[in-house]
Amino acid sequence: MKIMAGNWKLNFTGTEATEFLTQYKKLVKDSPNKVVICAPFTTLSTLARYKKETGIITGAQNLHPALKGTFTGEVNAKMLVDSKVEVVIVGHSERRAIFGETDEFVNQKVKAAQESGLIAILCVGETSAEREAGETFSILQTQLEGSLKGVTNAKNLWVAYEPIWAISTGDPNKPSPIPTDVEIMEAHSFIRKFLDKQFGKNGIPILYGGSANPNNMNTIFKLKNVDGALIGGASLVAEKFAAMANWHE
Ligand code: PEP
Repeated sequence: MKIMAGNWKLNFTGTEATEFLTQYKKLVKDSPNKVVICAPFTTLSTLARYKKETGIITGAQNLHPALKGTFTGEVNAKMLVDSKVEVVIVGHSERRAIFGETDEFVNQKVKAAQESGLIAILCVGETSAEREAGETFSILQTQLEGSLKGVTNAKNLWVAYEPIWAISTGDPNKPSPIPTDVEIMEAHSFIRKFLDKQFGKNGIPILYGGSANPNNMNTIFKLKNVDGALIGGASLVAEKFAAMANWHE
């Protein structure tokens, strides 16, 4: 059993999601995996409505840590729970890079998510420049330490290792490189050791994210400490996401 977590990013209205889900449910009958889709806020209700038919768990892509206040445009954990959301991505590299989210802010989000009973998918990962400079593990250490400071709840936490250089650009003519098996295993083993040290015995799943798709999933899922995938581009195509949802050993 693996976790297949789709990240729809800025894609799909409710109508488009309905078309996707109608197609998906014809292709997936009783997935052996835990399947999640993290959708835009406005599409959450459509996704939740289809849970019974598709088995897909409703996820969001962001939250604000405050429970109320003068934060125009923001949505909090309580609102997500009220919208039947069960999982939320925090600290995605796009939010860190484009919206200036720091480890400290991500840390507040992890805690806020967990306090409301949501599972937080914490994203960590290095840029290509950081990897080339030999800084991958120090970057992961800093992100994990900062984002998980004071966090003691291992039950509502998943971690996604997302090397930023492997995340798809959205341009089919510019495919991103995929890390080697060794690169994935080294990073996941580093994260596993960090989690073991902070949480003791824990079953925190570690997902791989970065151009994961039906063609490379067999290789990725056989690697040690890979408990699933965070899937961007391939989660937008019903046939591809269905193939991943149907994955089994
Ligand atoms: C992501 O951005 O979380 C991601 C994994 O995207 P993609 O699969 O498109 O590389």
